[in-house]
Amino acid sequence: MSRKIGFIGLGIMGKPMAINLIEAGHTLTIYDINSKPVKALVALGAYQGMSSKDVAEKSEIIITMLPNSLHVKQVILGENGVLEGLSSGKIIIDMSSIAPLVSQEICSKVAEKGVVMLDAPVSGGEPKAIDGTLSIMVGGCEKAFEHVKDILLKMGRSVVRVGDIGSGNITKLANQIIVAINISAMSEAMVLATKAGVNPERVFEAIRGGLAGSTVLDAKMPKILERNFEPGFRIELHIKDLMNALNTAHEIGVSVPISSQVFEMMKALRADGKVLDDHCGIIKFYESMAKTEVNKCTQNDA
Ligand code: NAD
Repeated sequence: MSRKIGFIGLGIMGKPMAINLIEAGHTLTIYDINSKPVKALVALGAYQGMSSKDVAEKSEIIITMLPNSLHVKQVILGENGVLEGLSSGKIIIDMSSIAPLVSQEICSKVAEKGVVMLDAPVSGGEPKAIDGTLSIMVGGCEKAFEHVKDILLKMGRSVVRVGDIGSGNITKLANQIIVAINISAMSEAMVLATKAGVNPERVFEAIRGGLAGSTVLDAKMPKILERNFEPGFRIELHIKDLMNALNTAHEIGVSVPISSQVFEMMKALRADGKVLDDHCGIIKFYESMAKTEVNKCTQNDA
């Protein structure tokens, strides 16, 4: 069944996700402050919204895919925002990774207009956004979830409702802690092996099938070996996620010692001008301390 869907935020993730919805036969009205992805999607059959308010007026379901809490607040609650174009019965799905408390705050504001909001952040990165195989973790009202599940399944392979509003983003914080620490562990190990004179490409091949193997290792080691730090997922966004994780941990009195250390490494990379690199660029922190580089043509390949 074709649905009228609004899509706001057409960046690395939002653009391919919106394309999958167009290809599934839905009618999309789109908006982004950057005109480039808007033009590309209009060429594929989407309608250009004039503002977030305009998108909300023309759609029954409004999806947002924006960088952080402030952007989502501005787009939904700000001037000419989604809230101004809403009427009772519409559903907002915020798929951005933001602070869980902000999801709850926005949800209660839009509820005053009879609108339900779900928080539905994703994991998987650009390749899975393109393939429509993201993992989507959803918080919010079960009835609304069932109503939009078919749409989410056009963007993701795994779509799981984890609880009430905000719990999608709590789950995403857990995900981001695991990914950040995984990349750091991989970086620490590969710099050690390289500095010790072993070819990191061989190390990768040798360990990827064992217990040290992981989705992170398989996705990120080839990029590192090629010295390709094009994002993917920018360090700046991961700093944002760990900041949200640390704030949440402080609020509920949980210790997150390893996350704090990775957060500090990412801050050092930011100070060093590397914030726009893919998050596998964490390895550069270790490389600069060890004065070595992990790449395809590293020594001792005989
Ligand atoms: P991005 O910066 O590439 O895209 C964000 C888009 O939002 C941009 O096109 C920008 O122009 C638009 N935007 C910003 N402010 C706006 C406004 N006021 N009105 C309309 N449009 C506005 O970011 P991304 O990588 O696509 O990530 C989006 C979200 O998904 C983030 O919360 C991120 O943490 C999360 N995420 C990203 C990845 C990844 O691999 N990139 C993976 C999983 C989750």
